[in-house]
Amino acid sequence: MNPDSAFATPRERSLLNVSGLSVSFETDSGVVRAVRDVSFQLSRKEILAIVGESGSGKTVTVLSVLGLINRGNGAVTGTVEFQDQDILKLSDRKLRRLLGPGIALIPQDPMTAMTPVYTVGWQIAEQIRAHEKMSHSSARRRAVELLGAVGFANPSEIAGRYPHELSGGMRQRAIIAMSISSNPVLLVADEPTSALDRTAQVQVLSLLDRLRTDLGSSIILVSHSMSVAADIADKVAVMYAGRIVEHAPTGPIFNRPNHPYTWGMLASIPPLSGKRQSRLFSIPGAPPSSDEIGNGCSFAPRCQFRMEICDTAPQYTVEKDQVSLCHLEPVDRPAHRDRVLGAKVPAPRIDATRPASKPIIEVKALTKIYRIPRALPGSRGGMVLAVDSVTLEVAEGEAVGLVGESGCGKTTLGRCIARLYEISGGALRFEGVDISHAPERRLALFRRRVQMTFQDPSASLNPRRRIGDIIAEPILFHKLRRPADLGARLKELMQMVGLPVGALERYPHEFSGGQRQRIGIARALAVEPALIIADEPVSALDVSLQAQMVNLFLDLRDQLHLSLIFIAHDLAVIRQISDRVAIMYLGSLVEIGNTDDVFERPAHPYAKALVSSVQQTRSRSLPQTMLMTDVPSSHHTPKGCKFSPHCSIVQDRCRAERPLLRAITGNRQVACHYPKI
Ligand code: SF4
Ligand code: SF4
Repeated sequence: MNPDSAFATPRERSLLNVSGLSVSFETDSGVVRAVRDVSFQLSRKEILAIVGESGSGKTVTVLSVLGLINRGNGAVTGTVEFQDQDILKLSDRKLRRLLGPGIALIPQDPMTAMTPVYTVGWQIAEQIRAHEKMSHSSARRRAVELLGAVGFANPSEIAGRYPHELSGGMRQRAIIAMSISSNPVLLVADEPTSALDRTAQVQVLSLLDRLRTDLGSSIILVSHSMSVAADIADKVAVMYAGRIVEHAPTGPIFNRPNHPYTWGMLASIPPLSGKRQSRLFSIPGAPPSSDEIGNGCSFAPRCQFRMEICDTAPQYTVEKDQVSLCHLEPVDRPAHRDRVLGAKVPAPRIDATRPASKPIIEVKALTKIYRIPRALPGSRGGMVLAVDSVTLEVAEGEAVGLVGESGCGKTTLGRCIARLYEISGGALRFEGVDISHAPERRLALFRRRVQMTFQDPSASLNPRRRIGDIIAEPILFHKLRRPADLGARLKELMQMVGLPVGALERYPHEFSGGQRQRIGIARALAVEPALIIADEPVSALDVSLQAQMVNLFLDLRDQLHLSLIFIAHDLAVIRQISDRVAIMYLGSLVEIGNTDDVFERPAHPYAKALVSSVQQTRSRSLPQTMLMTDVPSSHHTPKGCKFSPHCSIVQDRCRAERPLLRAITGNRQVACHYPKI
């Protein structure tokens, strides 16, 4: 079937018609076909989510809608009709006039879209003046109004701040204020929430949803997360290897998806309620590179329902309001779908009732203070209390999940425990030995036995060295193998992390993000650690790779009896992997307990809000009990309970007296004067 007719909606209602869009790039290694024959339409006030793994072509598609690819090195064919004109045929001058009042982009990383040396208000005002004749003072007033419109309670104060003085979610809202400054008809949001924790994510998505009503804007939301699409989209286009493989209204795509790739994406999301699974479902393999795309179905190498006919190109089929690109007969789909989405998995291997073993790490009232010199540009000087008197133990073989919003201090705490940062106060014991301030020469054993893996492993992999050399280095440094036995050990490590042995001969840039994460883990395992501190190891990965990585950590724990501190802002991942969970807010632990207990019956009001935010995602509506106000910065924490400005059950005592972490039942500890289970 012609893709145009497959995706057709009544034309008089549609604001944007993308038809037969194909984009390819000339590269040193040949032509890359990034987008192939993509068609979709968007009506006024409609939100379309384009979802897919990295490299699926979703960002190139929306950059083409903005007319930005044609001007680069890409070859673009097809049409992008917007307000009766084909964007692909516009001159640079006409396109410039259209961008802003017609279409505006909300970029993924507001930090790179903002200039660090100017205040937020100044930058928004300049954006306004770029499209409208207006005095500086009027533009400045309008900037403050816009900051109010995107939900800041104190817009004048925010206008005077520099970008680095805002949290990630606040920066994203500020950039949205900039994007809507000329009342665009169409907003294109490229992964606007992928770098944000769930609470900030909810704020940004709620804001986008409100803008659709208040401004009457249509929105294209690009995301690698099906959950984000579920939150606000009216319809969803799932992209794979440059093509739309399924396109449907949001309800049907979640209730009765038709394409095996969509089934895999949905099945890979870790569940947040019910019994924990022993392993997550994951789509095997990785998306194809451009030169691996043949004539048949691009998903075939990863598809468990592959048939002989799949070596030929599938055509779009329409079932009610759903369009999909697959050879499966409609009558066969429900049974296959149930097989993937309803896959029965064995009970969890995590055993919260096993007898406690002795602690491997003991953290006592650990404090970390940063001093900010006045001499820094834009700095007012002062101190930041990044970790505030945290007490925590991790037992041998135990996995503790450390969860909280970005900026809550969880990464700093992890780095203090790994002694990558000097601690400012408190004590740290490893295997019973005090190492709080031990000099580096006494830390040799600790350095080997405690390893840390990072969210972006690329930064810690020397790009000029082969993977084999990178992993061999710590083994030789700690004299763990003789050079003659090194090869066998390297092969063993590759097997453990699920990489081919040939990877040892290659360089870091030849690997995908998920593979680099595995390399980082292999290097950590190379020195036979007792404790791994994994800092957001899956947050930058697509959902299917995320599931593969969670399974890998579960396997390694079982095989090697490792202790694990797993730092993440994704509660579902934490739930899957941890025996106990510790929830952090503004530098302090507010609740610790067995993972199932905390997720089933959180006691601290902040923990309740966090858990409810994710549970409501799964029910496909934006959370109502979420924290919709700005988190105070760690410079200005309230007196008494730090959560008191946002707590729905706050009492006078809370504002006067800071609650300490105390046991309320079993091994549950909560820092609240009025905990409720
Ligand atoms: S066309 Fe074949 S290989 Fe492709 S998704 Fe459908 S069943 Fe799987
Ligand atoms: S101490 Fe008071 S303000 Fe703080 S979380 Fe508990 S009830 Fe809320």
